[in-house]
Amino acid sequence: MGSHSGARAESEERAVSGCLFCQIARGERTSHTIFDKDGVVAFLDIFPCTPGHTLVIPRQHYATLAEMPAEEVGKLFQVAAMVAAKVQSALGAAGFNLGINNGKAAGQEVFHVHVHIIPRYPDDGGGSMKSVAHFKGKETVEQIAAKLRPSFAPS
Ligand code: 5GP
Ligand code: ZN
Repeated sequence: MGSHSGARAESEERAVSGCLFCQIARGERTSHTIFDKDGVVAFLDIFPCTPGHTLVIPRQHYATLAEMPAEEVGKLFQVAAMVAAKVQSALGAAGFNLGINNGKAAGQEVFHVHVHIIPRYPDDGGGSMKSVAHFKGKETVEQIAAKLRPSFAPS
């Protein structure tokens, strides 16, 4: 182990100690927590888009999805789906959007992975996932698919 890994550990430590969602997970910051089990915590968003807007986080700090081991990602989404169903039924919502703003370009502001659960109600004024961005590219869908397939080819 060289000084590189030491520097990385130090910067990770700084990220964790200053992280709002680590503070919530540690109980150092007030939150309206509704679920906390097996390393996954769900609490209400402080600026909700709709009643019941919930954030689901891994207790452990990962800035973005790419940093998370696949198993942890699986557990996070399993819990998120379960929490979403319960929130929908408890609040009488008509449906929900579930997703991650992953990276600055996608609107991520808090760099501790979190799944948004946004319960939906008739006439809540919102849109679908397709309203997050608008296609301005020149390539066809076929050309884009051809670019992508090599990434999934068996090695
Ligand atoms: P992002 O854009 O990173 O996906 O969303 C961050 C979310 O965290 C926002 O919806 C914002 O309202 C919420 N948020 C930011 N700070 C706090 C906080 O201190 N407590 C809670 N409960 N939610 C927060
Ligand atoms: Zn964190």
